[in-house]
Order: sequence, then C-alpha cells, then structure tokens
Amino acid sequence: MGTDIFTNTPITSLVHDKQLQDNKEEIINNNNMDQGSSLSDNLLLESSKDDSIAKNIDRQIDPKKPMVALTFDDGPHYEYTNKILDALEKYNGAATFFVLGSRAEKNKDIIKRIVQSGNQVGNHTYDHKQLTKLGSKEIINDLTKTSDIIQDITNIRPSLLRPPYGNINDNVKLYADAPLILWSIDTLDWKSRNKQKIVNAALKKVKNGDIILMHDIYKATALAAEVIIKELSSRGYQLVTIDELYEAKGMELSKGKVYAHAYGKTK
Ligand SMILES: [Zn+2]
Repeated sequence: MGTDIFTNTPITSLVHDKQLQDNKEEIINNNNMDQGSSLSDNLLLESSKDDSIAKNIDRQIDPKKPMVALTFDDGPHYEYTNKILDALEKYNGAATFFVLGSRAEKNKDIIKRIVQSGNQVGNHTYDHKQLTKLGSKEIINDLTKTSDIIQDITNIRPSLLRPPYGNINDNVKLYADAPLILWSIDTLDWKSRNKQKIVNAALKKVKNGDIILMHDIYKATALAAEVIIKELSSRGYQLVTIDELYEAKGMELSKGKVYAHAYGKTK
C-alpha cells in the first residue's frame, strides 16, 4: 500500500531572518540577471555520473532496513560542512547538501569533497531568493546559474531543488524542472542554535523514510549532526542521499512534484 507521496498542502513560510542576516555578508550581489539567455529547456539535467569526480563508494543499501535522509541547506561552510562530512564518513553514511551557488563558487573544495565521499548536491538557488517572488525567467536564470556552478565543480548537474523557505507555487513547480524536495522533520536549528534541541528534534519522532532538515552553516548544527549520525547508525538506520532513499523505496522522483518523505512503499 502506498501513501500519497506528493504534498500539495501550502507550505508555511519559514522566515529565518537571523540566518539570512548572517548569510548576507557572504552573499555576492546577484544583480546581473543574464537577460540574453534563452529560457533553457535543460535547466536541471539528469546527472551524468560517468565523467563525474564521484568515486566508487562501496555503500550497500538494504531496502528492507530503515533509512533516513539527512539534508543540509544554505552551505557549504568551510568548517561546519567538513565536520559533518567527517562524521558521515566515520559511520559510512551519506547526506544531501542543498547548496547556494554563491557559497559553492567560493568553497569548491568542499563541494568536491561532498561528492567524492558519496553524498549528493542539490540546488538551493544562488543566494537564497524566495522563488515565489520571482518571475519565470528569473527563476530559470537563478537555478541555471547555480546548477552551472555546481556542474563546473563536480561534472554532475544537480537533479534536485530545495526551494528556499520551502516556498512553492505553480511557477516554481513549472520552471524548476526538477523534483522539489521538502522535509518531514524540521530541526529548527537556525532558530535554536542549540545542539541538544537540534538532536532532540531530529531523533524524537524519527522513522523510516524521513527527510530531516538542517543547515550546515551553524556550529550547533555541526555538533548536533555528529550525535545524530552516530545515534541513527546505532539504531540501525542507513543514512542515505535523497536519490538513494527514493530508489531504495522504489519510488519515482518526478519534475515539478513536491516530496517531503519516502514513507510510501514498504517491503
Ligand atoms: Zn535555505
């Protein structure tokens, strides 16, 4: 029995003002919308892993065992993302990093490490603009620019989008040209900045198929992630990327559809 994997309910706007303030210092002005570019029909191409820098990571995923997808937004951050990658490697886990193009282009080595250690990189826009406030061409330009930056570094074009604040409208669904990945557990790490609160939020109700939202730009999140990764592993959860999660569950990810978990099919 499959439950409906699509979430069509309105998404409450999450305004993390403080986080944005913090980010602003490092965000490069993005006024130069490329007016000359056509409406790309290949905005987020399928990954072409053949010529990617991803190594053959020997991670066996057992579809019968429980799994969780940790996701980290708004990075990469030199110190904290590396810390989280250390923890993932230690427990042979992987996660998905929804990165900002503006930060990716300044932290290429971390983007490379994310991919080389078997993790997935997704698009989280260039500098965290609210996509629902942009026109179709602006959406396309922003996401194309970000995907280009990631592809230049990794040779993999990101296939997933996490819209900032989880804000989605019909325009975003249409022009994202990618599955829209939300979450089923929000750790509210940006708000609490408290290691124990983040750990509790992640672990309290966690279950097979959950997608957990965190941000790899806070020290508290990096510290919490170490505990969360260790604890989930000891509870028998496999830590998987979004692509791995849906593949293992036998669920399709479709462009323009919204996903918040993978509870759908159980075996
Ligand atoms: Zn974000």
